[in-house]
Amino acid sequence: MDDCIFCKIVKGEIPSFKVFEDDKILAFEDINPISEGHTLIIPKRHAQNLYEIQGEDLIAIHLASQKVAQAIKKAMKICKRPTIINYLSDNEPDDQEELLSLVSNSDASLVIRASKGTIPTSLEGKLQIIEDLLEMANEADIPNERLFADPSIVHIGSGMGQRHLLNSYECVKVIKDLVQPPLNTIAWIANVSSGLPKTVRKPLEATFLSYMAGAGLDAAMVDVLDKNIRRTLYLIKSFRDEIIFTKTEMT
Ligand SMILES: [Zn+2]
Repeated sequence: MDDCIFCKIVKGEIPSFKVFEDDKILAFEDINPISEGHTLIIPKRHAQNLYEIQGEDLIAIHLASQKVAQAIKKAMKICKRPTIINYLSDNEPDDQEELLSLVSNSDASLVIRASKGTIPTSLEGKLQIIEDLLEMANEADIPNERLFADPSIVHIGSGMGQRHLLNSYECVKVIKDLVQPPLNTIAWIANVSSGLPKTVRKPLEATFLSYMAGAGLDAAMVDVLDKNIRRTLYLIKSFRDEIIFTKTEMT
């Protein structure tokens, strides 16, 4: 596909930091890593989604993810900052076990994501998945302070988009009251604007970030190089009394 960013990465038209590749797949570091070592594995043959991908490519991805996971495990030991592992969701039971043992045998944190193959459209659906994953993580001896609940942000334009975003807000808001001791919350802010024209993306992300901060969001995946986002982060911190507001820092 000519306009597919991943095909361009495969062809080398867009530079990437390759972690691993064979004839079927390419593993490379994400352009917006949530933590050091965040790696994407993609099939070299174009596929729009999970339904389109060929069986042999899917197998190759799973085999490669095992290799990459082993490499990440080794790398985590030398990583100086605490790692956040993204993510545990309510599918792929084999991966769950592996992921939980990786986190529980390290000081890493883990994102638990309100997703079960698809993302539930209701608040109750999201909370149910997070509660199930929380139980699973606690059983693997991972304390709540090392867990980040992710309500799964979808982009605003996609059919149920706005309903989803409202549910995500509510999810972040109520989860701290529901769970004791409290766990952290995190959201992939950039997801809200995917597919939209560049000119509206960053203002929308900045606004959505403030909106989610109002629900008590603890952490966010954002484009820190963007001025709008940095300004919004600064303001959120001032409103939360985490830093002193000074006029010069706003310009
Ligand atoms: Zn492609």
